[in-house]
Amino acid sequence: MASIFTKIINGEIPCYKIAEDDSYFAFLDINPISEGHTLVVPKKEVDYIFDLEDEVLTGLMNFSKKVALGIDEALGTIRTGVIVEGMEVPHAHVHLVPIYFEGQPVSLGRKTEVSKERMEELAQLIGKAVKA
Ligand code: 5GP
Repeated sequence: MASIFTKIINGEIPCYKIAEDDSYFAFLDINPISEGHTLVVPKKEVDYIFDLEDEVLTGLMNFSKKVALGIDEALGTIRTGVIVEGMEVPHAHVHLVPIYFEGQPVSLGRKTEVSKERMEELAQLIGKAVKA
């Protein structure tokens, strides 16, 4: 069965999309650790990130870098953190977590309330800042 992320990529489930290319897709996490928390996934569905072919893994990190730099530019972070865990959704993904201040808690399971309107705005702001 297709993963929830494959359904998002295929447009069967809505998301706050940020960017995509032929092989990768980035969208906001619906349970953000901080404003702008983004997931980056390969379009090819593989559960464990280290089962990805080398070139797909490298491409995933390169695409994540582009998105992270867009987050930094759009949202004025001090940097963007990276988490890979993958115990909830069996489709490899990179969490990009905007960090706004020293000492900001950055761990999965922490949730910040963000309104639908702000999620739409964040996706637009980040999407515009991601360089092709
Ligand atoms: P992990 O598998 O690394 O533990 O985390 C999976 C992440 O996917 C969680 O942070 C969760 O909030 C996010 N997530 C789960 N279902 C959906 C969904 O339908 N849409 C979006 N945008 N994020 C989701």
